[in-house]
Amino acid sequence: MNTLVAGGAGFLGSHLCKAFLERGDTVICVDNLVTGSPGNVETLAVDSRFHLVIHNIVEPLGKSEELQILLRSFPLHRICNFASPASPKAYQRLAVETLMVGSVGLKNLLDLAVETGARILQASTSEVYGDPEVHPQPESYWGHVNPNGPRSMYDESKRFAEALCAVYVAKYGVDLRTARIFNTYGPKMSPDDGRVVSTFICQALRSAPLTIFGDGTQTRSFCYVSDQVRGQLALLESDLTGPVNLGNQDEFTMLELAELVLELTGSSSTITSLPLPEDDPKQRRPDGTRASMELAWTPEIGLRAGLSRTIDWYRSSGFPLEP
Ligand code: NAD
Repeated sequence: MNTLVAGGAGFLGSHLCKAFLERGDTVICVDNLVTGSPGNVETLAVDSRFHLVIHNIVEPLGKSEELQILLRSFPLHRICNFASPASPKAYQRLAVETLMVGSVGLKNLLDLAVETGARILQASTSEVYGDPEVHPQPESYWGHVNPNGPRSMYDESKRFAEALCAVYVAKYGVDLRTARIFNTYGPKMSPDDGRVVSTFICQALRSAPLTIFGDGTQTRSFCYVSDQVRGQLALLESDLTGPVNLGNQDEFTMLELAELVLELTGSSSTITSLPLPEDDPKQRRPDGTRASMELAWTPEIGLRAGLSRTIDWYRSSGFPLEP
């Protein structure tokens, strides 16, 4: 198949590009590198079936001559939209860009799906549930989102994106899959983008204090990246229309995560507390019934094993570990 991955030079997108190459696809990775990095795909670039195009998907796709030539040479079968700033630090810095990529950027890809007949996979998020009042969160839950709070540019961008997808399905019959992704971690996570797993690991490896927000009793569930990618591929090739939660159902407090990171790194860092940010969800765990029953997908890598692999990668990656 010929597969376009928007945001393919990011954390999740680069793992996905690798998986597509491994199953034999030709991969067109479109990324403007706003939070991604060519380093994430440099080992893929040696494969002649991998093509990296630097382009902002908010701009008309026709503006990139390189992309147009590739699209003519490789008629698309699959489009995956993983382009969006994803960490609070990134989407708050790139607030307008985040809203634009979830609206105009996605519309450009949906129009491409209409034009080519390619199936499209939209990377949505557990953030569409906001600070949930239902726990765990099933796909049927409409969410509890502050529309003008400090996280709203991301949450509402992703909610708008789901609405736009639904309209394109109804109006143009677009062949669409939607993954509501819960916290996913693993090698290639940007070390300093403020997400909790990468932050704790880098703080521990730098012997700096691990910074917990509030009293550390808020919970998250963490999915290792290889499980997430397996879920994405299963969803993409399934008949499941409508959103599907993809995440690990094991729930941990931030304090438990911090203590596990300290144990696995052997770090002597201390744990300190910072004020809890506004609208920080108190708990987050997917209801995974749909994914397990209808997709036959369940995560296999536990937090201890996944963190160990991630710590090994940070240690060996040569990232500057200085803040
Ligand atoms: P990331 O920041 O590592 O990757 C996003 C990629 O999109 C980057 O390479 C960035 O340069 C690119 N991008 C952003 N705006 C673009 C634009 N206008 N045009 C072209 N490329 C653009 O983040 P990630 O964790 O890999 O997330 C990927 C997708 O998965 C995002 O849509 C995110 O919302 C979603 N998601 C991720 C998680 C997670 O835990 N990692 C959870 C929920 C949802």
